[in-house]
Amino acid sequence: MFDYMIVGAGFAGSVMAERLATVYGKRVIIVEKRPHIGGNAYDHYNDDGLLVHKYGPHIFHTNSQDVFDYLSRFTEWRPYQHRVLASVDGQLMPIPINLTTINQYFGLNLTAFQVEEFLQKLAEKRETIRTSEDVIITKVGKELYEKFFRNYTRKQWGLDPSELDSTVIARIPVRSNRDDRYFSDKYQVMPLHGYTRMFERMLDHPNIKVLLNTDYHEVKNIIPYREMIFTGPVDEYFDYCYGKLPYRSLRFRHETHSTERFQAAPVVNFPNEYPYTRCTEFKYLTGQEHPKTSIVYEYPTAEGDPYYPVPRPENAELYRKYEQLAKDTPGVHFVGRLATYKYYNMDQVVAQALTLCTKIIGMRRRELLNMQVEGHA
Ligand SMILES: Cc1cc2nc3c(=O)[nH]c(=O)nc-3n(C[C@H](O)[C@H](O)[C@H](O)COP(=O)(O)OP(=O)(O)OC[C@H]3O[C@@H](n4cnc5c(N)ncnc54)[C@H](O)[C@@H]3O)c2cc1C
Repeated sequence: MFDYMIVGAGFAGSVMAERLATVYGKRVIIVEKRPHIGGNAYDHYNDDGLLVHKYGPHIFHTNSQDVFDYLSRFTEWRPYQHRVLASVDGQLMPIPINLTTINQYFGLNLTAFQVEEFLQKLAEKRETIRTSEDVIITKVGKELYEKFFRNYTRKQWGLDPSELDSTVIARIPVRSNRDDRYFSDKYQVMPLHGYTRMFERMLDHPNIKVLLNTDYHEVKNIIPYREMIFTGPVDEYFDYCYGKLPYRSLRFRHETHSTERFQAAPVVNFPNEYPYTRCTEFKYLTGQEHPKTSIVYEYPTAEGDPYYPVPRPENAELYRKYEQLAKDTPGVHFVGRLATYKYYNMDQVVAQALTLCTKIIGMRRRELLNMQVEGHA
């Protein structure tokens, strides 16, 4: 008899398994329908020996000391500050928009002081900030909105920014200096030997069994367990009884090129031309040295694996119904991006899982994190 059946071996499922086994001494079985652990953060060496992220680039960044310290038990890190260029009107310019972007796009030579004034003139006033369009237009005005944001968002979400919640774009800063880092978090690092190696070390515990290539429906009535931790889509768990929650999906086109460098930055965004949104060159992220290089193009789609919960008020409303059902389902805990229908980054999912662990185990976060990693090889 297992104490917990955990559905999904991504960040949510793996953190839960590791803490429940290590701190609580529980016996855990993880059931994962894909042929690998790691969820969407899974990485692997391709046929040419290049480390690639199967489900698109995953950049680790967090302000949480707890999350960083916790994951550091399972991996060493390499410092990595992410940078993105946008291809607009045949030029490559830094994104988020900064002083260099403004000067390059408008053919000017403004100083940091002058650019603030310049942006204030471009920005339009709006009574309320409700949608993503409101957020951008009130920061940079219509022209930059049209060139850098509007079409990218339409491709990414299949919706105009005016139809999307302000939270989708609220996180994108506009800088009056030349800081071209994509993130400003305290910790910006990548797992030195990749994400999958980190997951392997998390799950390497005698109390944790992992069953790959298995949908939990196939085994939930065969394998005995006391409680379930579910990290798949919450609407799927309840057989879509209130209807399907909308998710956005992606198609990935992986390529390897016989050249050491393919493009001028880790990620190049293509807001306006082409059906893909961006192209990533993995060697920037992984630091790997290799005579060839691997890249991936991302094509947003409506159909396919659920990747992004779509942040719109009516979807949040529909999710609230499933959330209530989840609360009323004893013996099943819902955690992770799909199970709580939240547009979470990896660190937020780790934090959410640690919080659920403290509730289940009845310990404070500090005590939970201080427990030694016993049993790990
Ligand atoms: C393209 C892309 C890029 C991203 N980039 C970043 C980034 O740069 N930085 C960042 O911090 N975050 C990024 N994220 C977000 C990050 O992927 C998530 O926050 C994180 O992986 C969520 O972990 P999870 O465990 O909640 O879900 P998942 O990783 O989705 O894991 C859920 C697992 O459950 C399994 N499962 C589902 N249903 C069943 C079933 N019926 N039976 C058995 N198993 C099932 C799935 O196969 C999956 O492996 C990105 C996401 C995407 C899609």
